[in-house]
Amino acid sequence: MSDDSHEHQSFETRAIHAGNTADPLTGAVVPPIYQVSTYKQDGVGGLRGGYEYSRSGNPTRTALEENLAALEGGRRGLAFASGLAAEDCLLRTLLSPGDHVVIPNDAYGGTFRLFAKVVSRWGVEWSVADTSDPASVRAALTPKTKVIWVETPSNPLLGITDIAVVADIARSAGAKLVVDNTFASPYLQQPLALGADVVVHSLTKYMGGHSDVVGGALIAADAAVGEELAYHQNAMGAVAGPFDSWIVLRGIKTLAVRMDRHSDNATKVADMLTRHPKVTKVLYPGLPDHPGHDIAAKQMRSFGGMISFQVAGGEEAAVEVCNRAKLFTLGESLGGVESLIEHPGRMTHASVAGSVLEVPGDLVRISVGIENADDLLADLTQALG
Ligand SMILES: *Cc1c(COP(=O)(O)O)cnc(C)c1O
Repeated sequence: MSDDSHEHQSFETRAIHAGNTADPLTGAVVPPIYQVSTYKQDGVGGLRGGYEYSRSGNPTRTALEENLAALEGGRRGLAFASGLAAEDCLLRTLLSPGDHVVIPNDAYGGTFRLFAKVVSRWGVEWSVADTSDPASVRAALTPKTKVIWVETPSNPLLGITDIAVVADIARSAGAKLVVDNTFASPYLQQPLALGADVVVHSLTKYMGGHSDVVGGALIAADAAVGEELAYHQNAMGAVAGPFDSWIVLRGIKTLAVRMDRHSDNATKVADMLTRHPKVTKVLYPGLPDHPGHDIAAKQMRSFGGMISFQVAGGEEAAVEVCNRAKLFTLGESLGGVESLIEHPGRMTHASVAGSVLEVPGDLVRISVGIENADDLLADLTQALG
């Protein structure tokens, strides 16, 4: 449960203090890594701290889960072994055979694969909508729609969906709105306050922030939904371990300062790219001509660190840019302090090739880190050749 005493605090303060209560035994100011599977009972059923087995609950994981709930403004936070483990738990909690889901036409490749190749085998139907267009979302609804899934900004095309508008559509359809908030982080965007029911995170990305851990999270606006999810988290078992929980908690303490720098650096990089002769298109919601710019400005604090761009010369040219980059490390993933570059068509989004989610071959995606902006601009300039 989120700690009510943090509700009046500003984001930066909550990021550092929510869940991070001093250890009752030693006064350690950081929650210890409770690397333990089971807990001594004082007589059968006599639990000292409420813990009986670490799949069901572990104090280090609890610290992270309380922190997550406080940051997203939810009633319950849950931490998982990966973002996809969190998504799997969410889908198997909310959906039954015969139910229908609306999924976005631009999304993390693994999310699409989970729907198309795994969940659909259990009789869950799905259709694709352009969630940046409310009419497209309405048109995709069926009487059996139980979930509308939104990713904003989306991966890798940086599309923007108006969360409040889609929340209204979901409410009138009797469906739940799920928002994957990985690209923005709760510092930049708070979907629950805009009417979403559940927020999903890959903690691997900005939350962890240092490319050193894989993790996932669900945060529920409603206590009863949170309780259902917690029941399934324990029943299915893909929990975050104590060390992984600890290292994510550590990363979150600097989330606000990191996100400010990610956004500042990305703004400078996007500006350079728009003026570069070899770049044909820059996809960044901070650019005034981005189709989702006004909505992003309304629902986000700033525009984040993710940019995609298209280059003259097609797929081969895009691959060459990725190969020539030096300071931008060629690799999958995003959201770490170090800058990364990748070719979505051949890397992160290879699993959606041939589907409605296929991405352009001339597309390059960068995760702009928090290094010195001039060094980043110089590296991209030499990589573009
Ligand atoms: C990485 C990612 C996921 C999946 O998370 P994992 O931690 O890799 O399982 C889901 N959604 C988005 C937007 C992502 O970037």
